[in-house]
Amino acid sequence: MGIDLPPPEGVIYLDYQASTPVDPRVLAAMTIHFTDHFGNPHAADHAVGWRAHDAVEVSARRIASALRVDVDEIVFTSGATESNNLALLGIARRAPSSRRRILVSAIEHKSVLEAARAAVAHGFSLEEIPVDSFGCVDLEALQRRLATDVLLVSVMAVNNEIGSIQPIGEIARQAHAVGAYVHTDAAHALAVGPLDLATWDVDLLSLSGHKIYGPKGIGLLAIRREVQAEVEPLMYGGGQQNGLRPGTVAVPLCVGLAEAVELMTGDEASLERRRVRALRDALLAKLQTIDERICLNGPQLDHRHPGNANVRFPGLDGRDLLAALQPMLAASTGSACTSGIPERSHVLRAIGLGRSDVDSSIRFSVGRYTTESQVYCAITLIAAAVARLDNAKQPSQVERS
Ligand code: PMP
Repeated sequence: MGIDLPPPEGVIYLDYQASTPVDPRVLAAMTIHFTDHFGNPHAADHAVGWRAHDAVEVSARRIASALRVDVDEIVFTSGATESNNLALLGIARRAPSSRRRILVSAIEHKSVLEAARAAVAHGFSLEEIPVDSFGCVDLEALQRRLATDVLLVSVMAVNNEIGSIQPIGEIARQAHAVGAYVHTDAAHALAVGPLDLATWDVDLLSLSGHKIYGPKGIGLLAIRREVQAEVEPLMYGGGQQNGLRPGTVAVPLCVGLAEAVELMTGDEASLERRRVRALRDALLAKLQTIDERICLNGPQLDHRHPGNANVRFPGLDGRDLLAALQPMLAASTGSACTSGIPERSHVLRAIGLGRSDVDSSIRFSVGRYTTESQVYCAITLIAAAVARLDNAKQPSQVERS
């Protein structure tokens, strides 16, 4: 499609929770594995294969040490969608008949919700755990639902739309007390802090490369060793990765994922979180100078993903505002467009927003390459677009209610 965009440095990209650019260090680490080191990591008869195999092993080891799991607990996948499907459906397909209930939070990503709904067709019941107005799971509601017939509890660590952070350790403790498995979709969690599965004590955890400055098309499911026999693979083939995810492992992408995970967990990452948080806070403060009714959806600033600002523009339609900002500024509404019919964000509805508030919301997400001058520039563009949209209305409509 020939869409004319300004040169990359001209676009203000505030959609880091949709996808991140590949960090040049990640790209540099991957390149040789596309070219000189192209071997099949499962070719056991020659040195070219061994070298590729080593690259996968080293990558898995680096990731395992960052997440504090064992290396054989890492299963590479094509991304968090596949990881979430493998976690939910894999566990469901081997479930004992005595455990037929699956609990998920009301604000999960569609790849968890839809996988859980697919399990319903096979005799499972699905219950959504409500969240409060800050997007935090209601722990008492969870506790009330927990019993020995619950198979699995799946709660995302950090929400992709409103950036709420869940008490995963506490959720895991409650769920394990009734013998249920615990899965967390941690696609956005490394932006908040290092991941430590030992502390969280979850059984399954999903990650995605392209949310952490790694490549698209790679992710992982960390599966506790003692749980692996309870997971039915989604695909069958050559038995790679313990048979849990057969198929030739994508060596360059594994190397890129390892590099990206390490960059998200070191000292540089904690400085980055602080810098990103300051930019996000400045963005919100300046947005509120455009119109004091502009306000934040979801948790308070110090209790959410450091780059996330999900903001309401009362009286305006978020999609109109984003359209008016093209092609200069990239951000998202929470609406998914399935079969051409826009669907209102289930996350914003779950935290109690009405129709018009949902429609007037936009998610801005700040990241590694956002600069202060981009934030200033974004504000100028947004203020001008808001004024244009207000002017285009009938005088009676401008009086926003
Ligand atoms: N979970 C969450 C919370 C996400 O934000 C996304 C991506 N939007 C996914 C899962 C799916 O990840 P992937 O694109 O790697 O399949």
